[in-house]
Amino acid sequence: MIVDLHTHTTASDGGLSPEELILRAKERGVQLLAVTDHDTIDGYDDIVRLNSEGLQIVAGIELSCTWSGVNIHVLGLGIDVSSEALRKELADQREARGERAKIIASKLTKLGFEGTYEGASELASGRAIGRPDFARFMVAQGYVDTMATAFDKYLGAGKVGDVKAMWPSLEAIVGWIRAAGGVAVLAHPLHYKLTNAKLRRMLAEFKEAGGEGLEVCNGRPSPSDLNYLRQLCNDYDFEASAGSDFHQPTSWLELGCDAAIIAPCKPVWARWLPA
Ligand code: AMP
Ligand code: MN
Ligand code: MN
Ligand code: MN
Repeated sequence: MIVDLHTHTTASDGGLSPEELILRAKERGVQLLAVTDHDTIDGYDDIVRLNSEGLQIVAGIELSCTWSGVNIHVLGLGIDVSSEALRKELADQREARGERAKIIASKLTKLGFEGTYEGASELASGRAIGRPDFARFMVAQGYVDTMATAFDKYLGAGKVGDVKAMWPSLEAIVGWIRAAGGVAVLAHPLHYKLTNAKLRRMLAEFKEAGGEGLEVCNGRPSPSDLNYLRQLCNDYDFEASAGSDFHQPTSWLELGCDAAIIAPCKPVWARWLPA
């Protein structure tokens, strides 16, 4: 079976519309798909309509939060996208993104990069602003050569543009997900570059807050990373998830993951498969 429980569309920082993403997923043989845009379910306005065409879709989101000064992402899978409580929290999250964008811009201005707020806002064209919009603008202005350089030097983890003070706590967003009937899955656990001890502390607190899943496969993990994540999944008795974290066709990460990759962990998707 091919699954993909972590993907992005133009509703956040992805390159394909929800409709294009779903078509591509079908072409790639994906049988179970979650669209998990950053801090928004706007893509689902279109997806609900598309859901009956042969591919099973689990409603999802990727929420930003902070834990111990680190920007952490949590996937909410199987959420009720009509939840008014969730929509209210997401409106606040959007506000937080707006405030954060102003702070990122002021920090970049101090470094001598002008017009970044206006430029990033224009590129976001109505969506909530994210760091990729700043990166794209900086490339367009010739401030940096590539988006990767923009992140490496100015926007990535620990750099001046890595502003996270506005995000809610890990406990809070796990609460939103559960209140909307979803399963909270900790996304890409190795992206945060935490020591083993700190990562384990985070996982224990995530579990305590009501987190139930761990993204054992994000993209194309190395065999050693995969073994480590399977071990963590087992140690904390989490359900395992797998997703490509697909953003656009030009990147090397394609849609779809072989469901067997997380074995012997218990798959989170068992929740949505017919009995
Ligand atoms: P934000 O949601 O505003 O915190 O921005 C984070 C997003 O930036 C991630 O979801 C990625 O899509 C993107 N990103 C992170 N690091 C890089 C990088 N080195 N190069 C390009 N995009 C990146
Ligand atoms: Mn992204
Ligand atoms: Mn993420
Ligand atoms: Mn993602």
